[in-house]
Amino acid sequence: MEKPDKELFEKIVKIAQNRGFVFNASSIYGGLRSSYDYGPLGKLLKDNISKLWWESLKTSDIRIYPVDTAIIQSTDVWRASGHLSEFSDPMVECKNCNSRFRSDIVLDPPCCDQQDLTSPKNFNLMFETNIGPVKNENSQVFLRPETAQGIFVNFENVLRTMRAKLPFGIANIGKSFRNEITPGQFIFRTREFEQMEIEFFCKEEDAAEWKQYWTDKRLDWYINLGLRKDFLRLRPHEPDELAHYAKSTTDIEYLYPWGWGELEGIADRGNYDLMAHQEKSGKDLTYFDSKDNTKHLPSVIEPAGGLTRTVFALLLSTYKEEQLENGETRTLFKMNFDVAPIQIAILPLSKKDELIIICNQINSLLSTQFRTEIDVTQSIGKRYRRQDEIGTPSCITVDFESLSDNCVTVRNRDTMEQERIEINSLVKYFKN
Ligand code: ATP
Repeated sequence: MEKPDKELFEKIVKIAQNRGFVFNASSIYGGLRSSYDYGPLGKLLKDNISKLWWESLKTSDIRIYPVDTAIIQSTDVWRASGHLSEFSDPMVECKNCNSRFRSDIVLDPPCCDQQDLTSPKNFNLMFETNIGPVKNENSQVFLRPETAQGIFVNFENVLRTMRAKLPFGIANIGKSFRNEITPGQFIFRTREFEQMEIEFFCKEEDAAEWKQYWTDKRLDWYINLGLRKDFLRLRPHEPDELAHYAKSTTDIEYLYPWGWGELEGIADRGNYDLMAHQEKSGKDLTYFDSKDNTKHLPSVIEPAGGLTRTVFALLLSTYKEEQLENGETRTLFKMNFDVAPIQIAILPLSKKDELIIICNQINSLLSTQFRTEIDVTQSIGKRYRRQDEIGTPSCITVDFESLSDNCVTVRNRDTMEQERIEINSLVKYFKN
């Protein structure tokens, strides 16, 4: 096992900002702490990861129904789910410097030389706001701290309208909000982030098997996405760290530059949530099993991952520095073709019109099927470096010979090998 690399953290944050992946939010006003905006490449990367997540849920053996639920739900939802009373972290304050932080996270380095801490108080992590023009106790609502509850409160809607049969899943992707006491480590822990969650409904007797199925499937997904296998591990929760709703949980953890951190949790939630919503709403949320004419509340396996945390893990995992023969170092993101923000860069050797025309033609040929970009600024060497640094797997160079032989040079990011390909064969070439 390689040691985590603390320097890497700084490098990734710098490249992310300089190359258009992630910017500090409100940066022209000095930035808002721990809030981030995704730039053109970060947005593409996030969308590609999310697309691959949805694609992985299309399987022939089980049905997963997509939903897109509201960020603001009735406060009754959070009352029933236990978030109003339970969704808190233990907060301590230093009496000397007034810093506040989570008492279950060790401070490194300490907040000040005295570090004189109060005893922990529970701090609810949900963001409060109000709906409507009058602010009173009835107008109070919360921004969702997870996408999962939006699924549970739609269980009956999906069951009925889709005529769903057990086992089946409902999946949701979107923003969640937590007023984290100690946000930080770039986009690892932010107050506004994106989750990708599946609630998989099954019979109680099959729950353990389905938990194993999802744990294996989700771990494989991260590996196929391009995360380093040796930087991923499974960690079952100890009984005393289980969330109030969970019967058992296994985390998929990634070795971040500061150590192991959660990427996704796979929890057996039993029928906790459906039971709670059935009791509080008075609505029948049972599943009717026509095979034996019985009604029951299904068990739930929940793979709950972080989309924005995955973006960070992917940047960390695919970042490479290579020593070139001329003594220079090139930096690159070795991202898979599927996930790279730009898949093919088209580079004219010079800015002459006749080369630009060919670039535009190639772009129209490829851009309907691939993510492309025409890059004209700076020397060809510098453009290759920039494309390496944003993870582009292939560069096409159009030169003056292209005018006569209808061929272009295709450069592979990882091997830096170049081959001459006929323009008409490019689509076929990249499809392979
Ligand atoms: P942690 O222990 O790191 O606070 P958690 O156990 O509270 O995380 P879950 O409630 O299981 O997290 O949420 C599922 C996933 O959502 C996490 O695995 C993580 O990827 C993501 N996530 C949770 N909180 C944040 C956050 N503040 N910023 C970014 N991603 C988050």
